[in-house]
Amino acid sequence: MKTTNYMEQSEENILHTYNRYPIVLERGEGVYLYDADNKKYLDFAAGIAVNALGYAHPAYTKALQDQMEKLIHISNLYYNIPMMEAGKKVIEASGMAKVFFTNSGTEAIEGALKAAKKYAFSRDGHAGHSIIAMNHSFHGRSVGALSVTGTAHYREPFEPLMGNVKFADFNVLDSVKALVDDTTCAVILEPVQGEGGIYPASQDFLEGLRRLCDEKDILLIFDEIQCGMGRTGDYFAWQGYGVKPDIMTCAKALGGGFPVGAFVLNEKAAAASLKPGDHGTTYGGNPLACTAVSQIFDIFAQEQLVEHVQELSPYLEKRLDELAAEFSCIKARRGKGFMQGLELDGVPVGDVINRAMENGLLVISAGANVLRLVPPLIIEKTHIDEMTEKLRNSLK
Ligand SMILES: *Cc1c(COP(=O)(O)O)cnc(C)c1O
Repeated sequence: MKTTNYMEQSEENILHTYNRYPIVLERGEGVYLYDADNKKYLDFAAGIAVNALGYAHPAYTKALQDQMEKLIHISNLYYNIPMMEAGKKVIEASGMAKVFFTNSGTEAIEGALKAAKKYAFSRDGHAGHSIIAMNHSFHGRSVGALSVTGTAHYREPFEPLMGNVKFADFNVLDSVKALVDDTTCAVILEPVQGEGGIYPASQDFLEGLRRLCDEKDILLIFDEIQCGMGRTGDYFAWQGYGVKPDIMTCAKALGGGFPVGAFVLNEKAAAASLKPGDHGTTYGGNPLACTAVSQIFDIFAQEQLVEHVQELSPYLEKRLDELAAEFSCIKARRGKGFMQGLELDGVPVGDVINRAMENGLLVISAGANVLRLVPPLIIEKTHIDEMTEKLRNSLK
């Protein structure tokens, strides 16, 4: 049992900020992972919605290997070719104007918040602006990102955080309107809330927010870190709603497993916000990370992965709905595309996850009682069938 040994050694040295599941994952291929004792798992977690191409994708791996031999890092004091290429692809896919590459989702949020504050500062000639975020949102763990994260117990030990943040209720437009005043510079939300329990925004809510923000010159920020990059059947979830943000944040699947994020601005936000000296990063946009981003867009296009998600989503939803009809402990299914949640009632979600793991299936939770399925985008029907069978056995 190599697993037990590795686990004990890890706990000796690694700060205990996670209660990890008791497996040690060693390698992956396609949509399967293997642990240190060579047990095989069907992966419907994808490293938390990150590994869009699954594991060991040949073209992606080769491109990163080649780039490693050429150049890994040069800093942002110089131009690099992969950044130029990746930037072009992000702008083409989003129809927005400018991108800034970061190392993580959290950093993308930080940049988006700073851009919104700077936009209002330039317009009004003074600072002191405020931001409206959503209850049950998740935007990251750094001080700025945590300040707009709508779960009080994540924030409380670290108060005071960034000030001037107010929380509205997701999908309740009037609750946002009630918080808007002369100081409001941005509204930030996830088009599909992830960590909060897989809640898609309603069409009316996003349209209403867009109108409200246009009226008051407030920047609308969409956090596409989890719901973006093809997962909901469009490159970005907002495209499915036809409601375009002023700023969006990306990460997770953007690099297909390589750590990278981005915040992306429309013309208006780009023209009047961050200028030289306002923001920076040593690693962000390095040639290796940008090669990963570039590969993701190329492979998505070659393998038509966004279309694939659109085509296969009804089948995934159908199989999950069957389970929901079969088991009374499943209260509801929610989600969009390959971002699905099963709300459980009366059984702890951790128990189901552990049973599934024993049965060779990786799934994760979202919120207190939601089973979250965010598989690699390359899954086929047979994998959905295999997942359904394994989940059925785990729910019995
Ligand atoms: C994961 C996540 C983040 C934070 O990204 P990190 O890369 O972990 O810093 C922010 N927003 C959303 C919606 C996320 O799912």
